[in-house]
Amino acid sequence: MAQQKTDILSLLPEQLEAEITAMGAPKFRAKQIFRQLHVKRVFDFTKMTELSKQFQAQLNDRFYINMPKIEQKLASCMDDTVKYLYRLSDGSCIETVRMVYHHGITACISTQVGCKMGCKFCASAPLGFIRNLTPAEMLGQIYGADADFPEAQQISSVVLMGIGEPLDNYENVMQFLRLLSCKDGRNLSLRHVTLSTCGLVPRILQLAEENLPLTLSVSLHCADNEKRDVLMPVNRRYPLDTLLDACGTYFQKTGRRVSFEYAVIAGENDSPAAAALLGRRLRPVFPKQRPHVNLIPVNPVAGTGFHAGHAAAFQKLLEQEGINATVRRTLGDDIKAACGQLRRDTIEKESVVSGIEGISGQ
Ligand code: SAH
Repeated sequence: MAQQKTDILSLLPEQLEAEITAMGAPKFRAKQIFRQLHVKRVFDFTKMTELSKQFQAQLNDRFYINMPKIEQKLASCMDDTVKYLYRLSDGSCIETVRMVYHHGITACISTQVGCKMGCKFCASAPLGFIRNLTPAEMLGQIYGADADFPEAQQISSVVLMGIGEPLDNYENVMQFLRLLSCKDGRNLSLRHVTLSTCGLVPRILQLAEENLPLTLSVSLHCADNEKRDVLMPVNRRYPLDTLLDACGTYFQKTGRRVSFEYAVIAGENDSPAAAALLGRRLRPVFPKQRPHVNLIPVNPVAGTGFHAGHAAAFQKLLEQEGINATVRRTLGDDIKAACGQLRRDTIEKESVVSGIEGISGQ
């Protein structure tokens, strides 16, 4: 059986060095290759001109470069948001959004093809879970967007808020973060990274032990257990008390406050009682610090029946409860920048073309 090739773009410098020296080449070759991949962004061994043709061929036999390809690009007419649909080597597709803020350029990347979490308001949930993304496929989303713009407009912060649950792909996400922040590579500080989770408690506690300078964001969306059980099935496994305890532990271990995401859904989670309950639950989580909630009017997704609530009104209610809340700007409304919708449309179109009726969800 042919030896499986190694995904070279997912390797850290020391791992690449071990592979290259095992091939009988000197250490400095590993440094050169790492630089070609992660700094020069050369994704073809035959274009690495510092290397002999023979060595290029050896690399080609042993490794592959797993760069996602931009299949479709949508640029907003309303703001500078760009959305990419990437096609992966197995034919799956994922989304990445590039957003321009006054403080820099943010990439919102996907961490899985699909998602298992089943949140009721989410466009990706009905399509089910296909597979985890590799570190290279996460990094590739950033490299692809970087390459699409001049050097001065490179991505300066990354949010793991695209398709998928990052903490359900823990090891690959950690490896991606190591690569992203690698001094000899992309060198993006983890201070400029936000990881968003629906609340996988054991993984939050594991992440606390890593003591990384990133921002952890928890998608709360509801402070009532019964309602959250329905909106976010993960709540049945890790209910609010357990989740908020884990957030408290995260803060104690890392000194970093967790932030909370809250999609405001009309008539579901935007009442004064909902704000009061949220206040009661959040105030004790970080002693002597005001909790911070990011509000976003829910993006209406076909079939969910949910409509956007009035985020600014809910913000006022939260302020009265001693909670800092900011209303997130919705960007790229005209290009379906809301997560998962472009992939969903593409899959639906492709199922029609190939004669498959509907989507199995598996
Ligand atoms: N699985 C992770 C990250 C991906 S989802 C998480 O749950 O945090 C990124 C964010 O988008 C989450 O806060 C998620 O709850 C939110 N989201 C999903 N669908 C949405 C919608 N239709 N409107 C507004 N926010 C949505």
